[in-house]
Amino acid sequence: MHFDVLTLFPEMFEGFLGSSIMKRAIDQGLVTTSVVNFREYSTNKHRTVDDTPYGGGGGMVLKPEPLFRAVEDLTKDEPVRPPVLMMSPQGTPYTQKKAEELARHDRLILLCGHYEGFDERIREHLVDEEISIGDFVLTGGELPAMVLMDSVIRLIPGVLGNESSAETDSFTTGLLEYPQYTRPAEFRGWRVPDVLLSGHHAEIDRWRRRQALKRTLERRPDLLESAELTEEDRAWIREMTQGNGGRKD
Ligand code: SAM
Repeated sequence: MHFDVLTLFPEMFEGFLGSSIMKRAIDQGLVTTSVVNFREYSTNKHRTVDDTPYGGGGGMVLKPEPLFRAVEDLTKDEPVRPPVLMMSPQGTPYTQKKAEELARHDRLILLCGHYEGFDERIREHLVDEEISIGDFVLTGGELPAMVLMDSVIRLIPGVLGNESSAETDSFTTGLLEYPQYTRPAEFRGWRVPDVLLSGHHAEIDRWRRRQALKRTLERRPDLLESAELTEEDRAWIREMTQGNGGRKD
């Protein structure tokens, strides 16, 4: 999978792409990236990429020419232009489902804004989708682009080694993940639940499923509305809520 990242601060990506699982995915050839400073595509002699807003007001707005030229140049050999995603607090709220959908593409182009944001014509005529990583405003689109890349790259087959698995992660199953423990079996008097030490795999799976349901009910009951639940799951949820006079604990 290939990512083109258009940014004014390419150096921000060095640590991210040069460490941990991202680095390994790149070293293994599972992912390639082009982090491009779109200032290089500015047409004026001072290489400016922004200007004051029409109609007045504070801040600077990213001009359309450099970003249009950059995307057109990077995709000139593609018969069909890959999706162009704008990092924007006004975009679709980002979810695991969206990450799974994006991981099916061969190539994505990410636009990182800065300052007051983008000239509206970029939004209207260059971008396929706007993505927001949450209801807060950051100074630039670089961190959102890294969040998106990390969440997509770890879904590419072969990227996660045995030490990490995406299958049972929170949201992938429609639920939050069950609690995890490792050695020692007892730490400062706090014991790991006996079932996890029992070696009884069917019992362990059952315990994990119930814990995932319990945790989701306590923390994110909204997820249960769209999760795939069995009859046994539903009975367990009823038991948890009714057994406590309706309280979700
Ligand atoms: N004036 C813009 C607004 O109110 O919508 C905010 C601009 S913000 C200071 C600068 C850039 O950071 C945005 O163009 C976008 O690329 C990025 N950004 C900030 N918050 C973001 C978020 N929650 N999700 C995705 N991108 C974000």
